[in-house]
Amino acid sequence: MEAQVVGQEKLMIDVKRKKDGMARGLGKVIGYTVGIIGIIISCLLFATIIGIFPGITLFFGSLGIIYLSSGKQQVKCPHCQKRQPVVKGVENFKCSKCQNLTVVNWK
Ligand SMILES: [Zn+2]
Repeated sequence: MEAQVVGQEKLMIDVKRKKDGMARGLGKVIGYTVGIIGIIISCLLFATIIGIFPGITLFFGSLGIIYLSSGKQQVKCPHCQKRQPVVKGVENFKCSKCQNLTVVNWK
């Protein structure tokens, strides 16, 4: 079997920073609201015992929504093309899939 080389290659990418406009601010508020409601509902589902499994899904889904609402932007990894959220203005990020370091050049 042939092994694939997964080196610690460092690449630099240019990312256009998305502006936090009116729509973005509104999206943030909606994101947080939906996320918090989702967490409350998932807690109620946990309490019913039968609802534990959908509750877990809902809980993590809601956390994801809050996470995405907190000023992060989707950036594509230049190594493996995986899209992932990174905090805006961050110097670099390590890909969750290929573990390679990418330097981000914010425009
Ligand atoms: Zn990657």
